[in-house]
Amino acid sequence: MRKSKSGSDESQCDVADCKELSKRSISFKKVESALPNLKFKKTTKKVHLCKLHYKEFKKATKTERALNKLTWD
Ligand SMILES: [Zn+2]
Repeated sequence: MRKSKSGSDESQCDVADCKELSKRSISFKKVESALPNLKFKKTTKKVHLCKLHYKEFKKATKTERALNKLTWD
């Protein structure tokens, strides 16, 4: 169930007060657990994130994984 990867989807970022175009849609549960303080305009199964908020999400999820990664370096 993949949509166009080129990002031609013109929906907006679902984060409250954010007017950027969405870059990715992520499972709301994942976003919520990674960024519990983030407020959304609406909460559906999947929320749209712009580039910036997706980056934040990735950073937040990375923090968890960083623990495992530390043993690597
Ligand atoms: Zn955003």
